[in-house]
Order: sequence, then structure tokens, then C-alpha cells
Amino acid sequence: MRIGINCGHTVSGQVGCGAVDYIDESVEARNVGYALEDLLKKAGHTVYDCTNDYAPTVSSNLKQIVDMANSQSLDLFVSIHFNSGGGQGTEVWTYGGKKFDEATNTCKAISELGFKNRGIKDGSKLYVVHHSDAKAMLVEVCFVDTDDAEKYKKIGAAEFAKAIFKGITGQETESEDLTMSQYTELKELIEKQAAEIADLKNINQQLVNVVQTTMIYDFNDDNMPSWARPAVQAAMDCGAVQGDENGRLGLSYKDLRAIVREYRCGLYNK
Ligand SMILES: [Zn+2]
Repeated sequence: MRIGINCGHTVSGQVGCGAVDYIDESVEARNVGYALEDLLKKAGHTVYDCTNDYAPTVSSNLKQIVDMANSQSLDLFVSIHFNSGGGQGTEVWTYGGKKFDEATNTCKAISELGFKNRGIKDGSKLYVVHHSDAKAMLVEVCFVDTDDAEKYKKIGAAEFAKAIFKGITGQETESEDLTMSQYTELKELIEKQAAEIADLKNINQQLVNVVQTTMIYDFNDDNMPSWARPAVQAAMDCGAVQGDENGRLGLSYKDLRAIVREYRCGLYNK
């Protein structure tokens, strides 16, 4: 589907920014509307954002929204709003109060989050509904000035976006739980990586072995393994190990092991 989404009103604090009470209509319309746009895009729909953040007047804001919507050939135009005036629940406004599936199902899906279903209303006099070329619906998610707002905050904008997505497409959003095949795929990937890590450890150990068998230790200094130093020192002290004319000991790893063994047997005791 080709869907135009309008996050209602201008941004908070501007001319035409909408109702503000326990929650701010402009802010929440954007939180819900942009999350809805993401869900629709992920599901493969073409989304046109028809949000107007700044306008000199309310009528200019409305005209710019409709111009954006009508510059595309859309299957559906959706405007997201929040209600005020002390009521409770969710409602959707359509031209002539027409009860098309997307509108009826959006009311139903939002009410399933625990809100009163106020149903479809005649929005023929609402500018964006009246002037939209495409089939249009204006969603009043819930009220900003009653206990609706508290419930809304607890549930969070993302769940309302999912509900409207379900209302529009008839589809549930993808669950964050893994399916069995995703689980199996992930498990195989982890096992494969574990095997690769084991291989790397093996290669690393082989490299260590190579270094240990080829390295020559000439001096009893920082390069000498610490476990060998006291034994080498004792061997030097008693003359069992002597360097060449330059003082180089020329000891292999194997020699070190032998020196330590002999040291432990007490061979270098004076
Ligand atoms: Zn509004």
C-alpha cells in the first residue's frame, strides 16, 4: 500500500500545536505517527510523511498537510491526533462517517489496549479529511486531559503505533520472541562461532608451542620466564650453566625445563 501519515498539528509550542494537558498532543502524535511509519516501512509499504512542523497559521498548517498528501497517489491517508474536552476512549473520523475496514479495525485495535471504543465519526467538516484525495482517516488516539493520558503513558506510544498498524494492514507486528526456526538458526550460528573460537585457541597454542621450542634464552632477565629465573640463577651461581664469551646462556625452552627439574632436586645447592 501507499500510505500518507500525518503526525497532527505543528511541533509543540508553535502556532497550531494542539492540545496540552497531562500529555502533549503534538509530541505524542509524533511519537505514535513516526513509530507507525517505521512499522509500515518494515512491512514493505510505501510511506509518505505528511507532517508539517512549522506554519504561520492553523489553516496554513492544514493546507500544507493536504498538499503533501495530494502530491502523491495514495491508497490511504492517516492523520494522528489526540482528543481533549474531558472524554474517554478512541475514535476515528472519516468522510461521511464511512465505516471502512482500516478505520473500524483501528478503533478496535486501540480499544483492545484498554480504551473505550467511541467508534467512527463523521469527519466531513475536518479540513484534512475533507480535502484529501485519497481515502482518509483521522485517528483521535485517546484524551490528553483525563485518566486516558495516564493509561497511555503506561502503555507507551509504540503499542499504539502497533495497534494502528494492525488496524490498517490487518497484520500483527512481528513478535520479538524468536520463532523455532530463528532459534535453531541462532543456535547453529553460536555453535559455529564456538567451533571457530576453539580452532583459534588451538592455532594460538600451536604458535605458543613453536615459540617455546624455538626461542633461545640468553640472559636471566625480563625475557626469561619467571618460573625459570630462580633455577637459572642458582645454576649460574654454582657454575652448572655458563654463558659464552659474551655471557650468552643459549638456553632452549627444553633446557629451562631441565634446569628447573634439577634445581628442584637440589642439584644446584652449594
Ligand atoms: Zn488534534
